[in-house]
Amino acid sequence: MPDSRVAQVEVAIVGAGLVGSTLACALAAHGVKTALVDRLDPRAMTTDRFDGRASAVAASGQRLLRAIGVWPHLENRGEPIREIRVSDGDAPLFLHYAYTDVGDEFLGTMAENRFLRAATFARMAELEGKLHLIAPAAVSHMSETTDAAVLHLADGREIKASMVVTAEGRESKLRDQAGIAVTGWTYPQIAIVATIGHEKPHRGIAHERFLPAGPFAILPLPDDAGVHRSSLVWTERADAAGAYLALNDAHFLAEIDERVGGFLGKLSLIGPRFSHPLGLQFAQVYVKGRLVLAGDAAHGIHPIAGQGLNLGYRDVAALTEVIVDAKRLGLDIANPDALGRYERWRRADNLMMAGVTDVLNRLFSNDVGPIKAVRDLGLAIINRVPPLKRRFMRHAMGTVGDLPRLMRS
Ligand SMILES: Cc1cc2nc3c(=O)[nH]c(=O)nc-3n(C[C@H](O)[C@H](O)[C@H](O)COP(=O)(O)OP(=O)(O)OC[C@H]3O[C@@H](n4cnc5c(N)ncnc54)[C@H](O)[C@@H]3O)c2cc1C
Repeated sequence: MPDSRVAQVEVAIVGAGLVGSTLACALAAHGVKTALVDRLDPRAMTTDRFDGRASAVAASGQRLLRAIGVWPHLENRGEPIREIRVSDGDAPLFLHYAYTDVGDEFLGTMAENRFLRAATFARMAELEGKLHLIAPAAVSHMSETTDAAVLHLADGREIKASMVVTAEGRESKLRDQAGIAVTGWTYPQIAIVATIGHEKPHRGIAHERFLPAGPFAILPLPDDAGVHRSSLVWTERADAAGAYLALNDAHFLAEIDERVGGFLGKLSLIGPRFSHPLGLQFAQVYVKGRLVLAGDAAHGIHPIAGQGLNLGYRDVAALTEVIVDAKRLGLDIANPDALGRYERWRRADNLMMAGVTDVLNRLFSNDVGPIKAVRDLGLAIINRVPPLKRRFMRHAMGTVGDLPRLMRS
């Protein structure tokens, strides 16, 4: 008689965040028997109190979500990014990107994380036969035999799989238990996140304003009950953020109003405020035996360019491709060649983006005269040289480079 305390799947994923749950949908949609474990109750993860962030999903991420059937569940919850305007403090120069400069695909779509999560959970329900969601459940540890991995849950249950993927985020326990070292540092900055209502429409324009404490981003969201809305990511000095967060609503809104600069008309606060400490971290390896790292468990970057989740989506598309290819050939899906391909494919791209965001943050988060002059000149040059501008836009859209099949147009 089968032991009900032992489940047998092909891939066991730990972490039902945006990366782990998307990977689960991608694998199950390709017929790969998958288990997904999270320590939290999925119902708690889709409320507006759990995560107030909205993500700029790049065009390539959108292609992935469409291909695996998640996108239709977002319904009309996404706001297309038609233009991006970058400005440096009060300097008149700004960099202006319009989606029409590169084709007919929007630069990306802004979607609230709670709705992205709800969309992946809705897709999971459709994939039920191939996908087993085990949550809330705590993971104790992982062990390996020559031909399988075993995930041990704290309540004594076991999940046998060919491969275990940790998508546990920055504090990945399985990564640390496996002795995989992480390089990185914290930034002396905190991201304050809030949703605002405003009198005038945003017209699908995302604004990023570089202020001395860090970038201040105003990102378009869909209207709700006739209210125009935007998501704010206000990067502030870590030693000052606490005081801003402690302000009453009227004073907090007045600080926001000053930074927005009046172009959206009268503002209001919608929902709670959130804060996120910022840091950069990078795992030394992405694969050890039958354990594979994806998403923030492998790489955590500064949100200055809105790319952290997009890198995670690229991990998902690449890992799905190597697993599906190995399976079609009748090979062990965790064979070293397949997993080596995943690691080489993703590590270079992730490392490059981590470096770019780190340099951008250092270059723009200060008020040093000569540095400001040079960076403003740089923005002006990019803005005036169309091929250069298009190149930057395609990188931000994630539509260049060696794209996994699920992200090709
Ligand atoms: C302010 C801010 C704005 C951002 N904006 C953008 C943006 O616009 N675009 C973009 O691309 N990226 C953005 N990012 C980055 C993006 O949010 C992250 O890269 C992404 O959410 C990481 O997802 P993840 O699934 O890898 O990890 P997480 O979201 O950390 O999820 C990890 C999951 O694992 C579970 N878990 C952890 N440990 C265990 C365990 N031992 N057992 C069981 N379950 C476990 C947790 O409960 C959680 O559900 C932003 C980040 C910040 C801070």
